[in-house]
Amino acid sequence: MVICGHDPVTRALIRKLQAHGIPFVIATARYEEALRLEEEDGMRVVFGDPSEAEVLQKLRVETARCVIANLGDTENTNIILTVRALCRTQIVTLVDEPENAQFLRLAGANQVIPLKKILGRYLATRATTQGALAHVLDSFGKLLIAELPVHGTPFVGLSLAEARIRERTGLAVVGVWDRGSFAIPDRDTVLSDGTVMVVVGTREHLEALERLTGENAGEDLVLILGHGRIGCSAAAFLDSRPVPFILIDRAANPDCTEHIAIIGDATSRTILKGAAIDQAKGLIVTTNDDGANIFFTLACRHLNPHIRIVARANREANVDELYAAGADFVVSYASVGANILMNILENKESVFLSEGMQVFRYAVPASLDGKTIASARIRSLTGSTVIALERAGQEEPTILPDPDAVLSQDMILILIGSPEQEARCRETLH
Ligand code: AMP
Ligand code: ZN
Repeated sequence: MVICGHDPVTRALIRKLQAHGIPFVIATARYEEALRLEEEDGMRVVFGDPSEAEVLQKLRVETARCVIANLGDTENTNIILTVRALCRTQIVTLVDEPENAQFLRLAGANQVIPLKKILGRYLATRATTQGALAHVLDSFGKLLIAELPVHGTPFVGLSLAEARIRERTGLAVVGVWDRGSFAIPDRDTVLSDGTVMVVVGTREHLEALERLTGENAGEDLVLILGHGRIGCSAAAFLDSRPVPFILIDRAANPDCTEHIAIIGDATSRTILKGAAIDQAKGLIVTTNDDGANIFFTLACRHLNPHIRIVARANREANVDELYAAGADFVVSYASVGANILMNILENKESVFLSEGMQVFRYAVPASLDGKTIASARIRSLTGSTVIALERAGQEEPTILPDPDAVLSQDMILILIGSPEQEARCRETLH
């Protein structure tokens, strides 16, 4: 793996590569950085500009499995053109400005990831209390995965058995979040006002839930602190629902012609007072300054105990502090980026939920053919839970299959679990 550009995203990716034993080399034109990475961190580093053919040849780029371009859009374009002039090695690039994606593809990138746009969407889906379909994070074919707050539904205070969500809508509740901790629910799990459910089902199931909860988008109001690329993408997502929002930033966004933001510093009192925190249902905290994000989270939680706070952590080290300050959800820029890159590198599909939880697919291996889900002991062996079964030729997946369902090799398991549990699944079930 050849990595160009060293930032929190590539640092998180490198930890994953090391854990998987995948060899990599970093190319950097910054001398001090090259020295530090090599001497302090013991990494393989090539000093030189990765958009120069000579440097790429020294790296033996033609033998690499993949090149990851993670610099600015123009630098990435240069790297991609130079790599393409030399060889057919796979190139994955991140892009800041989604409109530049076409140029990066034209230059020869195989995959272009608009990370800031994706992150804005992640934050936005978690901040609104609007109906069920606003919370869809991703899909596996017909199966939609959504994270939905209990707040505003008729289920507050009921146990899962009492809420009868499955019977009433067809949706399965496969996980519950409470302030950053995730659990697989059972019949007795109580859905409190602050709980967020992870549900799976089809579009029809989610529509049934929307009818049941009958929420009105007009009542929702979301504050967005930070109108950079990520905040702007969150705003665009809410606009498409439509959910009303107010943007705040200390400077105007020169790249945005769509939105108007209130100008002010997050750490000033006047901004806090003027921001309608008492009326807002949701708050997205997404500046590039974790200190400001922590301060604003703490102040807003104090002013409005019921507001739903979704915060961005620019550095993974600040995830816990943001939770301690009162955030309901923290989304780490570095780990979302590293997860997406790793998924592409490993050629697999998975849906990233919040920190440390994902939904992933796994084809039923020969060793489980003919066994039932219960006798395969997937949960006790791997810690992950089967939430659905896909079968070749069957249009609709079976949601929460019966423990007595018999597995066969033409089936694909859809599971929920942490990255470690997913790794255990691949190690133990084959
Ligand atoms: P981006 O990383 O592209 O999402 O941009 C981050 C945004 O956060 C920029 O538009 C900054 O102006 C904004 N920002 C950074 N610090 C503060 C602060 N203390 N108060 C308000 N906005 C801020
Ligand atoms: Zn904007």
